[in-house]
Amino acid sequence: MEHFDCVVVGGGMVGAASALTLAQLGLQVALVEKFSPEDFSTEQALDLRVSAISLASQNLLSQVGAWQQVQQWRTCPYKRLGVWEHESAYTEFNADDIEQSHLGHIVENRLIQLALWQQINTMSNIHTFCPESLISLEQDNNKATLTLTNSTLTANLVIGADGAQSKVREMSAIGMTGWDYQQSAMLINVETSMCQQDITWQQFFETGPVAFLPLPGQSTLGGYASLVWYHQRDEITRLASLSNLQLQQEIMKSFPKRLGDIKVLGKGDFPLTRRHANTYQKKHVLLLGDAAHTINPMAGQGVNLGFKDVLALQHVIAEAIGNGEVWHDESVLARYEKMRRKENLLMMSTMDALYASFSHPSPLIKAARNIALLAVNKVPFLNSTIKNKALAYACGL
Ligand SMILES: Cc1cc2nc3c(=O)[nH]c(=O)nc-3n(C[C@H](O)[C@H](O)[C@H](O)COP(=O)(O)OP(=O)(O)OC[C@H]3O[C@@H](n4cnc5c(N)ncnc54)[C@H](O)[C@@H]3O)c2cc1C
Repeated sequence: MEHFDCVVVGGGMVGAASALTLAQLGLQVALVEKFSPEDFSTEQALDLRVSAISLASQNLLSQVGAWQQVQQWRTCPYKRLGVWEHESAYTEFNADDIEQSHLGHIVENRLIQLALWQQINTMSNIHTFCPESLISLEQDNNKATLTLTNSTLTANLVIGADGAQSKVREMSAIGMTGWDYQQSAMLINVETSMCQQDITWQQFFETGPVAFLPLPGQSTLGGYASLVWYHQRDEITRLASLSNLQLQQEIMKSFPKRLGDIKVLGKGDFPLTRRHANTYQKKHVLLLGDAAHTINPMAGQGVNLGFKDVLALQHVIAEAIGNGEVWHDESVLARYEKMRRKENLLMMSTMDALYASFSHPSPLIKAARNIALLAVNKVPFLNSTIKNKALAYACGL
């Protein structure tokens, strides 16, 4: 039976980043993951799962040495962000307004994970268990014991970074609140007639938004993009059953004209759920990322919140070690929860308020939200305060 300071269960983007930040503090870390990340080659098609990585997340990935590799592979920086419902209330956010060169990058999730794993493989104090799966978890007063498919480990702290369906959360009997939005999101990779763009945009409809995220590279048609189509579950199921050509025709009918010509390359759909763990830590167990909270992906904040969890945990543990405290004591871990719960809740509630407002059919509410968007764009005071503050917050600054 091997003992570690920390065992991180789940080597996705958040778990892998956490293993690295804890190893940077000199802790002995084990990382348990079900699937080995696939190697990268430039001929591989762009993956469907992409994320809008904020400036703050980029800083974290640089800190652990992964960003440089991600950039060498492929990323698409974006400088502008367009939001509107009615065309006349189109509002655009620009990196220049907050004195930045860009607002973020669109990156394939698997490349972030792979770059983090490459860094992990250079660290002598991280031991990877992969492919491995968590079978059971026991917590006593002194430690946690994890039974994996092929090994048994003990740890002072088990970190559940095993995603929305977290087994660590379930096995440690941490409850959660949440609901299904009764909506799904369809991710669609397309070729576009336009070359690589520096804008990501989202138009709101009562049935849910449609979004455009630019992707890197040159295609025979022009460039590439990821489209996100939010709608009722039944409608997404219908769209998912169409051929690529039929889906293309539906997109041309429903998306705004600024999309231009497209050719559908691939698609996938995901149900939208909201989940929040009742506590982030309990008896040698701590939750990070989607294991602790899943949020409506409308504003592209999910993994960015997870990376903020990672930084907060590194900060409280570093401080405890510096003060000579027992770094895995409940009182120390409670500081992590204090730092993160309020902010995660605020972001989740803001997304819910936006979602509810834009899906409300009342003509009065529709007029009010368009006037609000118009005001934020056209009234100089609102433009330079609210708009820029919201933008800086979304970038994690
Ligand atoms: C449609 C959609 C669009 C999104 N767009 C964005 C965006 O633009 N920007 C953004 O910030 N976020 C976005 N998100 C959210 C983002 O994808 C998630 O927040 C992020 O993937 C969570 O990362 P994670 O590492 O916490 O969990 P996961 O990515 O789920 O990783 C969990 C890992 O744990 C492993 N695992 C699970 N169970 C076990 C086990 N028992 N034993 C061992 N290993 C296990 C899994 O194999 C996996 O590797 C989007 C989500 C959706 C659904």
